[in-house]
Amino acid sequence: MSTDLQGALPTAAELDAADPLAEFRSHFELPDGIYLVGNSLGALPKAAREHVGIELDRWSTLGVEGHFTGHLAWKDYHHLVTEQLGALTGSQPGEVVAMNALTVNLHLLMVSFYRPSLQRHKILIESHAFPSDHFAAESQIRQRGFDPSESLVLVEPRDGEEILRPDDILAAIAEHGDELALVMLPGVQYYTGQVLPMADITSAGHEVGAMVGFDLAHAVGNVELSLHDWDVDFAAWCSYKYLNSGPGGVGGAFVHTRHVSDQSLSKLLGWWGTNASTRFEMATDFDAIPTIESWQLSNAPILPLAVLRASLDVIDRAGGVTALRAKSELQIDFFDRRLAETLGGRIENITPPRLEERGCQFALRVTNGDGKRVFEALEHARVLCDWREPDVIRVAPVPLYNSFDDIEQFVQILDGIVT
Ligand SMILES: *Cc1c(COP(=O)(O)O)cnc(C)c1O
Repeated sequence: MSTDLQGALPTAAELDAADPLAEFRSHFELPDGIYLVGNSLGALPKAAREHVGIELDRWSTLGVEGHFTGHLAWKDYHHLVTEQLGALTGSQPGEVVAMNALTVNLHLLMVSFYRPSLQRHKILIESHAFPSDHFAAESQIRQRGFDPSESLVLVEPRDGEEILRPDDILAAIAEHGDELALVMLPGVQYYTGQVLPMADITSAGHEVGAMVGFDLAHAVGNVELSLHDWDVDFAAWCSYKYLNSGPGGVGGAFVHTRHVSDQSLSKLLGWWGTNASTRFEMATDFDAIPTIESWQLSNAPILPLAVLRASLDVIDRAGGVTALRAKSELQIDFFDRRLAETLGGRIENITPPRLEERGCQFALRVTNGDGKRVFEALEHARVLCDWREPDVIRVAPVPLYNSFDDIEQFVQILDGIVT
């Protein structure tokens, strides 16, 4: 299906009728109204109730034996999602694990991959980094006895621009060269929705001898990723955004094969990182699992993992991130064109225009500066989206459960609100 036919933009109803993923909306429970905020909290997969119910029942009937009983044994439960997380991130076996939460994982991975020396001590992040990422980098620098005013490098958009120019990022990496220990950037920027060129950033970082890690909070389940082939050193993400694992859902982490069994890496240890076959002998010599699982500290949170399993199964049945992205590109195009036709001049979309540089999230700014009032009126009309200071309304049509009609309704409601 092409939407490029001159003057012939199909209607939302036509696009929904031709959408091979349309039925997947029925696999989710959505709040009343128009839910366009899956970039912040993904929708509830219906099957989560069953998956969580099974674990509650197993707990009730098996008690502690649930750790060791059957194919859902809790001691191995986290393995049930690794293959699907591998497919979503372009990872090889042994490179990916579901554990902890995002910021915790960033810290654990920085313990290993930020190894400052007097000569090479800088971390490069973006000036508009999500505050948690900024705090994590800053506190890691202090923790090693360095000073963020000297060791934290911020790349920023040029004056009057919103979007980071890829060339500026690469130039900053080259400029700090042999003082740069770590590059830590988002795969998709949370505010503007910009997709950063992860492969180019990784090679630029490696060129100067730095480690390169990505925060994939807004990337995983949204855009296609090839972490292994891009040679990324490490990555971390949360799963409650596009992976629909529910509030506080379990995070994920990636470490490239070439590092996973490197015993010289500094690491914080816990009993879930040691050889599973001897773990319960309670010996105190750490026998590192030769995969990313050696970064695990604690036994896995089963109930959040049960929700994640439910969601990953739906994503699989929809055809994985490739199928989702194909629909997303049609939705982006439809949304762009309906915004331009209906609200051109009244709404500015600060998301990069090129498809390769954006995921499903739109960052909209009300041209006359009336954004906060417009956002409140949207809330009043039961459009669920979000406001990010200083002046952006974020709206994300999620291909797994949002229809083209959701986009059409949003555009019409917005048209009625923005003067
Ligand atoms: C959502 C998000 C977070 C949230 O961190 P948690 O540890 O999951 O609370 C952090 N960083 C980025 C870039 C995010 O988008």
